[in-house]
Amino acid sequence: MKKLYSSVLRTFKGGVHPPDEKRHTADIAIQDFMDPKGDMVFPMLQHLGAPCRPVVKKGDFVLRDQVIGEPDGLGALVYSSVSGTVKDVKPMPHPNGSKVMSVVIENDRQYTTMEKDIQPCSYKELSAEQILDRIRRAGIVGMGGAGFPTHIKLSPPPDKKIDHIILNASECEPYLTSDYRVMLEDSWRVVNGLRIVLSLFPGAKGYIAIESNKPDAFQALQPYIEDENDIELVGLKTKYPQGGEKQLIHAVTHREVPSGGLPADIGCIVINVDTSVAISRAITQARPLQRRIVTVTGDCVKNPGNYRVRIGTSFREVLEAAGGVTKEPAKIICGGPMMGMALSSLDVPVIKTSSCLLVFSDSKAYLPEESACIRCGKCIQACPMHLQPYELNQLVLRRDWDGFIKWHGPECIECGSCSYICPAKRHLTQTCKLGRQVVAAMRKQAAKGGKSHG
Ligand code: SF4
Ligand code: SF4
Repeated sequence: MKKLYSSVLRTFKGGVHPPDEKRHTADIAIQDFMDPKGDMVFPMLQHLGAPCRPVVKKGDFVLRDQVIGEPDGLGALVYSSVSGTVKDVKPMPHPNGSKVMSVVIENDRQYTTMEKDIQPCSYKELSAEQILDRIRRAGIVGMGGAGFPTHIKLSPPPDKKIDHIILNASECEPYLTSDYRVMLEDSWRVVNGLRIVLSLFPGAKGYIAIESNKPDAFQALQPYIEDENDIELVGLKTKYPQGGEKQLIHAVTHREVPSGGLPADIGCIVINVDTSVAISRAITQARPLQRRIVTVTGDCVKNPGNYRVRIGTSFREVLEAAGGVTKEPAKIICGGPMMGMALSSLDVPVIKTSSCLLVFSDSKAYLPEESACIRCGKCIQACPMHLQPYELNQLVLRRDWDGFIKWHGPECIECGSCSYICPAKRHLTQTCKLGRQVVAAMRKQAAKGGKSHG
């Protein structure tokens, strides 16, 4: 039998070991919640880039799988996941905390589907251009959280020689188990999506990188790659943030993404597990991206689990599908506890990048008081980007933006490792986040007005 992975687990320098808390949902099979009753909300921003332009108007009748938003630049098509009538096209609350132009559809719960103008087929019947076009037309984005349009990621400039396609199967954030369940329950599609991407880059090798705390996922995927010479399983140490793009690439290839650069600059492309499934569905079923798996968990949730939901469904309905709450929630997070976004309301929709809904009571959401730094250096040891979180914290508090840039603050990936490890409970990640936002805004302003930052 082919040796599937080395016993030596790979990793990166730095990181932390928070309790993984996956036991609440890891063994629960994916359940369908595909018939939501309420209005569906489709934000025109579900990707990295500019919001899409709505292409339907109030009163229109739309079908499932119909395009309702088109990008004008960097972006991805938005599809309706239901049939029904457009109630409104207006700014609506978005999981990112702002209001975003959205198409609101009254779901008729018939799920009448638009007739396809492409047919399901094997990727082997298509040219590289046709595969990329199908991925573009399916509106696929990085579903691990970043939301980068996949057809653009898979179209690097011709001078970038891609030799590593890495499937990010680490799912390192505590509580999240949606990718894990997909690997167990949809193993063929996970591998098929990777095969499709590999077909675009002749000579490249595929790597499925899984943390050591998911031995069942190794076993589930093994039969599908046994006869593949160009796909290898890579065992990773269980450590956070092992699934960070730069950390993952380093662990698998020992290459470093240059500052301000992209993985393609060093011959790598990273795709997420659910994204791989979406790529497979776009080709073999000719279906656009209009559903995803969401882990619903936290100490307030009555029936924690992994739910297959239509994009556009409100988180309120998703939580109700999980039995609602057993006690008063104090904090609701979209995503994991380390990098997720706090929600001020459950009345926001599941979007393409929503992997998890966390509902915590006071005891879990408690944010301890900051105290003075004791110069222990733990934040520096933990930082996977080799930054000095304490220094960056002080620079932001002094509003020294030039200093923040000089100390490489914009390189922070907002992973939360420094805040997690700090014995003084300094709000290190929050200040880095603020510093990065200010610097990004200054740079944008400078680019517009030709003025330099500072
Ligand atoms: S400084 Fe940024 S990258 Fe480094 S540990 Fe803190 S949040 Fe993570
Ligand atoms: S971990 Fe906290 S206490 Fe230790 S050096 Fe960093 S900021 Fe200071």
